[in-house]
Amino acid sequence: MDQTWATSWFKHTRSREPIHRDLTWDSLVFALTQYRDVSGTKEERLNTAPLWSPARLDGDRRAAHVVDVSCLVLDHDSGEEVAAAASRWAGFSHIVYTTWSHTAEHHKCRVVLPLARPVPGRMWSAAYKDTMKRLGIPADPACSDPCRMFYLPCVGVGGPHMRVAIQGAYLDLLPVATKLHDEHQEKERRRAEDAERRAAAVRRTVDSPDDAARAVIQVMQHDATARRNAAEQCGGNVSPDGTRARRALCPSCGRSSVWWYIDSDGPAMCDHGKSCGYRDAVGRYLMALGGAA
Ligand SMILES: [Zn+2]
Repeated sequence: MDQTWATSWFKHTRSREPIHRDLTWDSLVFALTQYRDVSGTKEERLNTAPLWSPARLDGDRRAAHVVDVSCLVLDHDSGEEVAAAASRWAGFSHIVYTTWSHTAEHHKCRVVLPLARPVPGRMWSAAYKDTMKRLGIPADPACSDPCRMFYLPCVGVGGPHMRVAIQGAYLDLLPVATKLHDEHQEKERRRAEDAERRAAAVRRTVDSPDDAARAVIQVMQHDATARRNAAEQCGGNVSPDGTRARRALCPSCGRSSVWWYIDSDGPAMCDHGKSCGYRDAVGRYLMALGGAA
């Protein structure tokens, strides 16, 4: 059976519900080299021009719903000649089509490379950015979005338009995507281990945190210098307006991201609410970090 690539199609810019299609090379070429007449204002175009995405979606269009990505798509908007953009991929199967506002003076095109194997959605951004970096292509960061959608070939403003489809080997990004993903996992694992080590060390040094913390706060409330010293001993500093201690070491995630109001007894909170979420009474925080000494 012919190899197919999973794609999602959208009726216009605002539609979020994908229409799924598995396309062979021939049907992909057909879909991406037929120019549709889309005239009118930009607003009218947004409402009528169809779009596609090389993503298999489980649900509506959002990055978390991308199962895998089937093609590498590159937007060349900076005026690079179409021939130069295409020649980078000599030897690989690729489809090139000029985009809506392409002109003879300022070339704009899209290069589509069907991949040998789909890349899992969660691995896509890193693999895309790495590919752009290795090739030295100035990439629009938005293109690393795994559910990014692209207009189909349209005529209406620019021109004359060009398109070409070349057959060769299929580009395989899965090995590099897997390697980058594994490296990232390993880094996260080491960070979690490190945070756990710090937290364990803190737990060992604090005996009766609640009683001690109350005593600490009583001192703090009457002594501005003590408050300032406490912030600094926790690795942080006091904001220029003097109201907050900030950038103090987080006993949970290990980053310099804990802050609290100087005049209050709590809470002390980590800035990384989503990934860490550390939050405790200021007194207990200071005891834990040794800032109450
Ligand atoms: Zn934290």
